[in-house]
Amino acid sequence: MLTLEKYSFGVGDRFGHQARAQLRAFELLAESGVDVVPVWNKSNREHTFVGSHPRSVRAAAQEAITERGWKKSWYVDADHIQTSTVEPFLECSNFFTIDVASSIGQPAAPADVAAFVARHPELTGAVAVSGLEHSLEVSAEEVQRIARQYLLAVQSAAETYRHIVERKGSGTFIPEVSMDETDLPQTPLELLVILAAFADEQVPLQTFAPKFTGRFNKGVDYVGDLDRFEREFNDDLAVLAHAIQVYGLPTNLKLSVHSGSDKFSLYPIIRRALDRTGAGIHVKTAGTTWLEEMIGLAEAGGDGLALAREIYTYSLEHVDELCAPYASVIDIDRTRLPAVSTVASWTGPEFAKSLRHIPTEPRFNPHMRQLLHVSFKVAAKSGSRYTDLLKANEAIVSEQVTQNLFERHLNPLFS
Ligand SMILES: [Zn+2]
Repeated sequence: MLTLEKYSFGVGDRFGHQARAQLRAFELLAESGVDVVPVWNKSNREHTFVGSHPRSVRAAAQEAITERGWKKSWYVDADHIQTSTVEPFLECSNFFTIDVASSIGQPAAPADVAAFVARHPELTGAVAVSGLEHSLEVSAEEVQRIARQYLLAVQSAAETYRHIVERKGSGTFIPEVSMDETDLPQTPLELLVILAAFADEQVPLQTFAPKFTGRFNKGVDYVGDLDRFEREFNDDLAVLAHAIQVYGLPTNLKLSVHSGSDKFSLYPIIRRALDRTGAGIHVKTAGTTWLEEMIGLAEAGGDGLALAREIYTYSLEHVDELCAPYASVIDIDRTRLPAVSTVASWTGPEFAKSLRHIPTEPRFNPHMRQLLHVSFKVAAKSGSRYTDLLKANEAIVSEQVTQNLFERHLNPLFS
């Protein structure tokens, strides 16, 4: 059975040029004694926007793996798929993130809910979970409410899982289920009920992505109550360990944090929790690697800087249209977006500093960063002009990619 390693980290590579530079960051980490396996993820939505096929992600990753002689595991994640969208991913992915957020809250058949509650007397009363400060006090009505809320989502995930098994064979891929793209975070008790339901459905879940408390905006730091996140995260780890024991879920089942990239203030919290419990983790980032490409092009000056400015100009002029599909995962204060004339006056390094996510850098502008993050379509429209510049400036671009991943992400999280 394909078994996901204890530590894994998901990276995006929107234009398929940075797999080598990304892999280099995992090598650097391995050299410092920590093994984290890379997962290349790209969602159906991204493929649609860029006009790419899932096959291209695997091809780019495979090329980097061969070239650099990477001997450990690596994965290609069909990110946020459902039965209706999984088809093109089947041949080239060995990791499937089954997204059932849209089924949350849709009531399951009353008979199924009743059967679930009857099957799980252990979920009512005082439920002792080692690692939780207090045992959970749960009424049958509460279990019923949670089952009504989540059972259909679990059933729908199980259906997609079985569909993938039919096509690929069981044990040939890593099954992840995500419930992060919804309005309300799941409580530890809800998580426990959800995991019990997955065990009933005999889905050998290896990672689960809940929605955590707080805002996970794309490409910028966490916004929310850090103490509350820490409590919740630790409780979730306790619940997971408990569910593995009680329900016989895979022993490597771990949390998947769909971070949206750059949740720097959560890294020390996650790290503390992993150190304390010995738990594993999967952290998924968004396709912010393309911002490192922009930073590299800006640093390169000349045609690179010119294109970076053009992309920003176009993005600013189409801000409504570009932001609309991401409204729930960005917070842009438009009054803080620099004017086109301002950006035109910037040097390459000034442009780079405004975009590069170093919170202590006075020039860093999270509003500009979020806008550009959702503007990858604009770079895609530039076609070979963009990708030719990436090739021409490969050294400086790949340095940005590797450094960002190693110094700002992998190193703080894992070593
Ligand atoms: Zn997600």
